Amino acid sequence: MSEQNASARRTAIVTGGGSGIGRAIVHRLAEDGFATAVLDLDAGAAERVAGEARDKGHEASAFGGVDVSDRAAVEGAVRRVRDTLGAATVLVNNAGLTGFKKFLHITDEVWDRIMAVNLNGPFYCTQAVVPDMVEAGWGRIVNISSSSAQSGQQFMTHYVASKAGLVGFTKALALELGPDGITVNTIPPGFVDTPMLRASEEKGLLGGTVGQHADRTPVRRPGRPEDIAAACGFLVSEDAGYITGQVIGVNGGRNT
Ligand code: NAP
Repeated sequence: MSEQNASARRTAIVTGGGSGIGRAIVHRLAEDGFATAVLDLDAGAAERVAGEARDKGHEASAFGGVDVSDRAAVEGAVRRVRDTLGAATVLVNNAGLTGFKKFLHITDEVWDRIMAVNLNGPFYCTQAVVPDMVEAGWGRIVNISSSSAQSGQQFMTHYVASKAGLVGFTKALALELGPDGITVNTIPPGFVDTPMLRASEEKGLLGGTVGQHADRTPVRRPGRPEDIAAACGFLVSEDAGYITGQVIGVNGGRNT
């Protein structure tokens, strides 16, 4: 825990905090002294993860049933976070939806839903918390994009376009918010062993098993949610105040 975090308790919102990478980020930030708001569409999962953090003696609350693609729901949740845990000055835009479809089979509905969750979601969440960060003169925003935005990925044009959009969102916003003491960075994870990845493996959508992909990864293992959480923990720390607008790949060397 950084010195400043120890002296001034801060509140962090983690979207999609009920599962996989988001869950690991919740635990990491809770251990680092943040009061954590677990925001997720899945109310049971949000409750479970907040409960796990509280069992370890940390301050955490669940904000379940919140769809990040619904601006009103997001604004309501951010208000409730402010009332229960205090104004958030850390936001991790992690909630995301994956999708595999041949390009010509992507319907308007499928395209719109991916964009709504992966791009509009961070837009709504960020607009809801930035005023509190500006007020505090300090803030940290971390957007979880995808290594597929760096490399491309067949049958995922909609998903990759949304995640590449999040990289641009990060770079532009970093320039605008830097003078307010707010940093904005993105972590594009690559091949992290989560329920999302295993669901894709089960459907035969990975072009091989997780183990086969691990064998082709320079560090010879799949990513762990904790790998992403560690990078995120650093980016939201006091020590990372001079890092903004950056794409910090955490992918075992799959993309450089
Ligand atoms: P995950 O295990 O599926 O967790 C995602 C969580 O987000 C779930 O709890 C999910 O709830 C929630 N969520 C989905 N849509 C939501 C919405 N509209 N509003 C609020 N919450 C929502 O996925 P993960 O693998 O940890 O992925 C986390 C992030 O990393 C995603 O943005 C993903 O695109 C990105 N990523 C992951 C990998 C990887 O290898 N795993 C690679 C690159 C990028 P439900 O279960 O109810 O849907």
